[in-house]
This record gives sequence, structure tokens and C-alpha cells, in this order.
Amino acid sequence: MNTEQQINQLREELRQHNYNYYVLDAPTISDYEFDMKLKKLQKLEEQYPEFYDPNSPTLRVGGEITKNFETIVHEHRMYSLDNSYSKEDLLDWEKRIKKLVDGDIHYTCELKYDGASISLTYENGVLLRAVTRGDGIQGDNVTTNVKTIRSVPLKLKGNFPPKFDIRGEIVLPYEGFAKMNQERLAAGEEPYANPRNTASGSLKLQDSTETAKRPLDCLLYAITGDRLAIKTQYESLEKAREWGFKVPKESKLVNSIDEVLEFVEYWDEHRHDLPYETDGVVIKVNNLQQQEELGFTAKAPRWAIAYKFKAEQVSTVLEQITYQVGRTGAITPVANLQPVSLAGTTVKRASLHNADQIEKLDIRVGDTVFVEKGGEIIPKIVGVDFQQRTPDSMPTQYINNCPECGTFLIRKEGEALHYCPNDQGCTPQIVGRIQHYISRKAMDIDGLGGETVALLVHEGLITNYADLYELKKEQIVPLERMAEKSAENLIMGIQKSKDIPFERVLFALGIRYVGETVAKKLAKHYKSIHAIIASTEEELVNVDEIGIKIAQSVTEFFAIEANKVLIHRLQQYGVQLEISAEKLANQTDTLKGQIFVVSGVFEKVSRNELKKLIEDNGGKVSSAISSKTSYVVAGANMGPSKLEKANKLDIPICSEDEFLDKIK
Ligand code: AMP
Ligand code: ZN
Repeated sequence: MNTEQQINQLREELRQHNYNYYVLDAPTISDYEFDMKLKKLQKLEEQYPEFYDPNSPTLRVGGEITKNFETIVHEHRMYSLDNSYSKEDLLDWEKRIKKLVDGDIHYTCELKYDGASISLTYENGVLLRAVTRGDGIQGDNVTTNVKTIRSVPLKLKGNFPPKFDIRGEIVLPYEGFAKMNQERLAAGEEPYANPRNTASGSLKLQDSTETAKRPLDCLLYAITGDRLAIKTQYESLEKAREWGFKVPKESKLVNSIDEVLEFVEYWDEHRHDLPYETDGVVIKVNNLQQQEELGFTAKAPRWAIAYKFKAEQVSTVLEQITYQVGRTGAITPVANLQPVSLAGTTVKRASLHNADQIEKLDIRVGDTVFVEKGGEIIPKIVGVDFQQRTPDSMPTQYINNCPECGTFLIRKEGEALHYCPNDQGCTPQIVGRIQHYISRKAMDIDGLGGETVALLVHEGLITNYADLYELKKEQIVPLERMAEKSAENLIMGIQKSKDIPFERVLFALGIRYVGETVAKKLAKHYKSIHAIIASTEEELVNVDEIGIKIAQSVTEFFAIEANKVLIHRLQQYGVQLEISAEKLANQTDTLKGQIFVVSGVFEKVSRNELKKLIEDNGGKVSSAISSKTSYVVAGANMGPSKLEKANKLDIPICSEDEFLDKIK
């Protein structure tokens, strides 16, 4: 055997042992023997660097440093999941999906692993990339760190497709977590609060040698990609297992919601026997074609739902109520609690929502309160233990003045929140608006973070987002934690934001109630900021899905002189305040007023492209057939019940080609 063959053989052997140990949990050699083989390989690789392989088992120990994690746009978006908490919720869900698909529905039940989501890309059987979920659209490239996780295969086995993404959760099993904490305590360091945060923090360590030391595990649950020749979710779990991934065996294929509930009840009780944390069950429609028919809402797949295990509750003392001012001037009361351990984290603060909530639950400082962690990250107070209330307790007086600037607060008729009206002079509002402007989903300004914005405002260098475009390098360099290079990057990032499309600029302006979706609608309808400014409340309300609340807020915003000045300045700096000509060229009104339902599998365009074509040409896409439907666009395998419904209501059906002709 020549050296190259020897090296390759050692790599193969080590890969297999690694798999036996970390994926199957069934080692066939001792740790000592494993280490000896690894050392031997390391030595050979050092001697013969010409046989370097980025996926060699020796690289599991880390070594590479990442200074900045590169942002990567997910090829297939990473969605979140809708939640359910009861049998009724599940039955409602079943009812909804049965309206949209034909035939029997089977479900896979999987545990909902509580860690950090990850998307792994494999090409020709080799791990190409590992990206965090981020905001679902783009995440961070954490490949070097993920390569150190022993249960992530660097090379696949068996008969895998040439290219695919696989999604999973990186978790820190209890045992390893406890051991890490023992070591930290012994070294006089603070223990980590909970496995989930520690797992996600581990992915963002700069030194991969440190990540390698953490006993992380990677559990996989979904394969995405084109032309994978997989027909069901359950099959995809089995396939992933064959290719060398760690896919927990607890998943079960069932035929009814009752069986789903059995699975949930069993695991609600037995989940503490698992080696890692779980926070619920994920139920997925098993048939992938049915999944495709069901599609996605703006946030989550319609074909899956999470069932959350019951939230844990504890009681603790409410020590103080403080008030925060948000970017729109909204005041949120915050409960400062005697620290208490809840579902693995130490809780010190909880949301109190608004004045009504405090009054409704009669929450007072000094009370013993019940705190619960539900689906949200921020725990909430769900009640007061009145037995423990002392006689000298006094009802809570909500504040009258802004805690930051002292201005008298206002509360509009019918609104839950109090507002500080001093939008031009109240610091957290000024800072918050600029932070919103630069945020990822808005202008996404590289090299500028929330803290730097606060610093720039406090130093008096900016008071609004238009000021950003006038910043000079010389003003920034002297600031704390800034240098020549970072100042240049900041200026460059700001300049680059001039390419951000109009709909996102509109969102970035921070008009109350104008979120991402509303901004898109307005941008599409009006096409330029000037048209929006010129529009009256009545005209705005007539735009599809724009209600009176939004319309009022928009007209109010543009009635303010200071805002008009801002817009004028943004325009002078070259920020996009209208839809680009190129985009306009692709949009028509051909399908105006028509509502389409899309069903089946298409040949020339993907389902998503088809929907985009409908919208770009002025039509609307709906998921269910009703008497309002103008056309059903049918591909191959259109569901029989949809066909029947369309026929019954006399809705014309057109083929893919007929549809494409329509918009030519
Ligand atoms: P949420 O973050 O509550 O919207 O829930 C969605 C997340 O659950 C996904 O991003 C996944 O990271 C995670 N998850 C954990 N286990 C599973 C599973 N078996 N199937 C799908 N998602 C899962
Ligand atoms: Zn204020």
C-alpha cells in the first residue's frame, strides 16, 4: 500500500468508528485504539500535506479561527412552526388541511428538539456548508464550527442525491452540559444557564478548537432540495439515517389525530428520560405531495404544526415595575423579579404587557406572582398569589410621564398602550428609529450595529436616519471601539444601503403599523413615495388589505413636517424612493381583480414562480376554492376534490400553458 492509500484507509476507518460511536452509540473499538489511529493519521497528514482533505476526521478537533461569520441567504427559506396546545387546536388544524388536500392524511410525529436550528448543504456526498437559521431568510456560515461536531457526517454513505440541504437541531445533551458546568465551577467560572443557549452560543465561537471541546450533537429532521425521489417525510428520515445522519428513532408514523395525541401524552411524561431537551412534538403531513399542495403561510408551513408541552410555572416575588420606551414611543411595563429558575433559565424580568393587564390581574409590587414560560422567549406573569399579599400592599399606579424625557404620556381611545408623544426629543425613540432603519430586514446596513447607533446619537453625531448619510470617517474614528478600518466599513455599509429596494426603505422609515408585508403592499400599489404622500386616508383604505388604522398612521406620518424633510433628504442622498424601472417592467395589471387557486405539479415554472407571476401581473392567489375564485390553474395531479369543487361552482380551470399565454 502506498502512503496515499494508507492515509485514505485510515480516514475511512476513523469515519466508520466515529459513526459507530457518535451516531449509533455502539463503538466497536476502545477509545484508546481510536486515539492511536487518529494520531497516526495526524502524523501522516503532517508529513504529506499534498494529501490534504478538508473533510478528514483529524479536522474534528478544530483549529480554524473565524473572525466574522459570513451571511448566507438560504436557498430554501427556513420557516418557523405554528403552535398548538390542545386537542381542539389539532382538530382545527386537521380541518383546515383537509379542506385543501385530497385523500387520507397520515402524519409523522417527531420530537421537537430544543437547540439551535441548522441547515447543512451536501454536494456529492461532502459537507459543503452549515448555516444557522438566522431570520429564516439568511443566516451565518458556521461551517468550521459545525465540522467539529462528531455526529455530523463530513462524507456520506450509501445512495445519496448529488445535492441537497438537510435541516436539524444542534443540541447539547444534559450529561455533557452538566459536565461542562462542573468544569466551569471548578475553575471558578459562572455556570452556563441552559443547554439551548449554550448550544447556539457554541456555534458562534471564533475558535473552532473551543467548539470542538463542547459535547454537541446534531439531530436531523428534514431534507430539502429538487428531484430527491423521496415521497414521504417518514421515508426521508429513514433515508437520512442510511446516509449516515443521526436521526432520532422516536419518530412515529400515525393515521389520526387521536394517535398523535397518544404520542404527545407519552412523551410529555417520558421526555425527561431522553438525553437531550425537547419542548414539544412536531406533527407533519407525511405525504410530500400533499405537503406541496398545502404550501406555506408567510411564516410557517401549513403541513406541519408544533404541539408544545405544557409550560412550566413557578412563583416568585415582584420587586419593582420599570417602564421601557420603544422606538414608536410605546411604553412597556416590565416586571423585575426575584431571580428564579424556570425551565432551565434564571428569570429576572417578565413582560407585563400594558396598564390594563396590570389592572386586570391586580399586580402589585411586593406580590408573589406566578411566572410562566410559554412559546415566547420572554416569560410572562399569569397571576398573583393573593394569599401571600401583605395588608399594606397598594394598587399599582401607572406612570403619567415618560421615564426617559418626562413628557406627559398619551393613550388614544381604544389603544392598549401609552405613548410618549415627544418623538423628536425622547432619546430611546430617536435611537430606536435609527436602529430599526439599519436592521437586517430594513436597510441591512453592514458594519453598523445597535450599540454604535446609540453611541452616535449620544455623541451628538446623528439625530435621525438621514444624518447617517452625512457621517464622515473623521467623526467616527475617535469613537470608542472604532478604528480606521471599522469606520470605513461603516461608511461603505451606509453607502451600499442606497441600493436597497423601495419596499424595504418604506418599511425602514418606521411608520407605525407599516410592517414588512404592509410596506410591500403599499410599494406595489403606489410605486413611489410621492404617490403615497399625495394619497388621502380614503384612498389608502381602498387599497387591498389596508385598514383604517394603517391609513391614519400613514397620513399622520407624512403630515409631520420633520418627516417630509427627512424624505426629501433621503431622496437627495440617492435612497430608493420608488420601484425601480426594471421591476416595473415586469409588472402588469393584466390579471387585475382576478383571484387564482393553484393546484398540482407544474412543468415550466415552480409553484412559487407561478404565484409570483400571478401577483406581479396584478392578480391574487388564494389557497381554497370559493365562489370568488376566477380561475384554478391546474398542473399534473390536481386533487380530485378540488376538481369537483371547481366544477360544482363552475370555476374555469386553465392549464399551465393557458395561464402563461394569458400573461404574455
Ligand atoms: P419555532 O422556533 O418555535 O418556530 O419552531 C420551529 C423550530 O423548531 C424549527 O426552526 C426547528 O429548529 C425546530 N425543530 C425542532 N425539532 C424539529 C422537528 N422535529 N421538526 C421540525 N422542526 C423542529
Ligand atoms: Zn419620552
